Amino acid sequence: MITVTAENWQQDANCADVPPDLMQPEVASDEDVRLAKSTCTGCPVMAQCLELAKSQTDPYGVHAGRWFGHKPAPVVCCTWCGDLLTTATRSTRSYCNDTCRKRASRAAARTAA
Ligand code: SF4
Ligand SMILES: [Zn+2]
Repeated sequence: MITVTAENWQQDANCADVPPDLMQPEVASDEDVRLAKSTCTGCPVMAQCLELAKSQTDPYGVHAGRWFGHKPAPVVCCTWCGDLLTTATRSTRSYCNDTCRKRASRAAARTAA
């Protein structure tokens, strides 16, 4: 009998020796997803795999026989003008450019005065 521990469970996986892009295909066609899901059939560590996938922020790919697509990015808008922020600006600031940042800062200064 195989003993599955927290340390070694991934080496017992059905997908342990398949190329990583089989389980996380870059562009996933229905056929890609079907093939990846079939790898999970009878996998002895499916429960651990599902728990790990659920704990990840963006568990893209097939895990535990299920397809996890990318989670949609949250919609974030410029605090000043309301324009939608791009992925590049979203993580570092909440204004779309320095003009909006300065306008917001001046408005805050006027409010405080
Ligand atoms: S259940 Fe998880 S660990 Fe097992 S083959 Fe599927 S993706 Fe790999
Ligand atoms: Zn703006």
